[in-house]
Amino acid sequence: MITIKRDLFKQIVKIIKNYDEIVIARHIGPDPDAIASQIALRDSIKATFPHKKVYAVGAGVYKFRYLGNLDKVDLKELKNALLIVLDVPNFIRVDGIEDLAYKAILKIDHHPAEDIIGTVDWTDEGKSSTCEMISELLLDTKLVLDTKIAENLYLGIVFDSDRFLLQNTSLETFNTVYRLLNQSRINFVSLYDNLYDRSINEEKFHAYLTNNLEISDNGMGFIHVTNDILEKYKVENSAVSNQVNNFFFINELICWMFVVYDEKNEIFKVNIRSRGPIINEIASKYNGGGHKYASGARLKKYQDVEKLHQELDRACAAYLKEQSN
Ligand code: AMP
Repeated sequence: MITIKRDLFKQIVKIIKNYDEIVIARHIGPDPDAIASQIALRDSIKATFPHKKVYAVGAGVYKFRYLGNLDKVDLKELKNALLIVLDVPNFIRVDGIEDLAYKAILKIDHHPAEDIIGTVDWTDEGKSSTCEMISELLLDTKLVLDTKIAENLYLGIVFDSDRFLLQNTSLETFNTVYRLLNQSRINFVSLYDNLYDRSINEEKFHAYLTNNLEISDNGMGFIHVTNDILEKYKVENSAVSNQVNNFFFINELICWMFVVYDEKNEIFKVNIRSRGPIINEIASKYNGGGHKYASGARLKKYQDVEKLHQELDRACAAYLKEQSN
């Protein structure tokens, strides 16, 4: 391990050692990488330092319950807490810490940096997932890595790299996964049921998306899924974001956006993927953000959805022009 990384890991372990109250948070609308990294790190700190009070906070997601339970805690009671922020770069998207007066922040994340700056900060856009980062940390320090922790970390890496298909997968990802599997000896094949089990309704909904996606001459794909369609296919609105990664490697598509209206929060939820132009800088102009080729946005007005769509279409046109030169 190179010295800079070794020093960083020493600082990370030191700040964890310095606090007996620790709250671990991640982004709203969590995916398996967010929840798995949070639960794995909580379980590791608790197993390493049994006297510490460590809480993984934020809203639970029923379908990810196989990763483990989150904690219900009155954060106002904590007077000297370390906040660990995982998998999210901006305060506005951190879930469940409104009542916490924390003393310091440890941040570990693979998104481009935004306004959260940790007292100890490990931000690395080159990583496939936050679980890849937590795996490295546990493999290279005395923090405990047991079977359940390793299973969660593996699932988070597989999910966020989309089975090692996405551009965020590196040689280091494979090296870390090898070390994780070699040390823990988990039965990783049997874990895939949890991530990939789905109903036939969801498959039919996938077919609907394929049949109804509008694709522009510039390779920009767009679909607005109405609530009538969700009802017809008997799927939740989360089925839309679940499908967005399934549209990689289609010749005619270089960027695509899926839109669904979230009635509870009164916003349009947008998922965007690209294998051409960089999209997070565009998404950030529309109350969104994310990674270079995987972003999202939350919009109040449908006109803004249309504007975002048009801007992405222009980015596709510019990308195609650049490629042809
Ligand atoms: P999703 O399409 O929801 O899977 O999100 C893809 C990436 O974009 C993830 O890294 C999310 O954390 C990020 N993201 C999604 N929505 C937003 C948003 N409204 N603001 C900033 N980042 C977002």
